Amino acid sequence: MDIYLAGFIITYFSIAQKPKNQLTQYYMSLNKYTEKRDFTKSPEPAAALKTSGATLSFVVQRHKASRLHYDFRLELNGVLKSWAVPKGPSMNPKDKRLAMMVEDHPYDYKNFEGIIPEGNYGAGIVEIWDEGSYIDITNTAQPELEKKLMDELNAGNIKIKLFGKKLKGEFSLRKLKAKEDNAWLLIKHNDEYATLEAYDSEKETPENSPINKWLAENKKTV
Ligand code: MN
Repeated sequence: MDIYLAGFIITYFSIAQKPKNQLTQYYMSLNKYTEKRDFTKSPEPAAALKTSGATLSFVVQRHKASRLHYDFRLELNGVLKSWAVPKGPSMNPKDKRLAMMVEDHPYDYKNFEGIIPEGNYGAGIVEIWDEGSYIDITNTAQPELEKKLMDELNAGNIKIKLFGKKLKGEFSLRKLKAKEDNAWLLIKHNDEYATLEAYDSEKETPENSPINKWLAENKKTV
């Protein structure tokens, strides 16, 4: 083998594997969130880095915007890594739910419920569908946990264990290589919490939730 070619390849991979400046990366990651919103007009939380500490949080928000969808968010490195899931999560391992990765959201967004006024980005109603803590599937402890999860995320295959009220047990999020950059699949692993029956996240919502009330009131006009 050409020694110069070998040298080039070695140099290339050592540069490619250098860790990025993480702090810059975090701030950059919330820039998109801030750019899309006007916090004098929307009640959504402003950008800030925060962490739960020893345990990481997850939240699933049901969001009636121009289209009803679910937002799946995992706390990681002070922000919420976020995916929009059009059909909502499923507890059935046969379902591969499309999850479009969207901009990082601030940690405080995990508590956000309410109305985003007309004319604002994502205008509509947000309600918390499920929440809890999560870990990786091999019970890695902090601080290694977040590094491991970040590596998995960057590799396009993150395996997690959720401790929610509705979502329990192992899931994975896998990036679709052939599709657009931000297309992932959310898949339930086959474990003791999995169901083999048809799962519809819409059926797991209280009748009097703000979105359900809106849907009932607007049924005839839609
Ligand atoms: Mn949304």
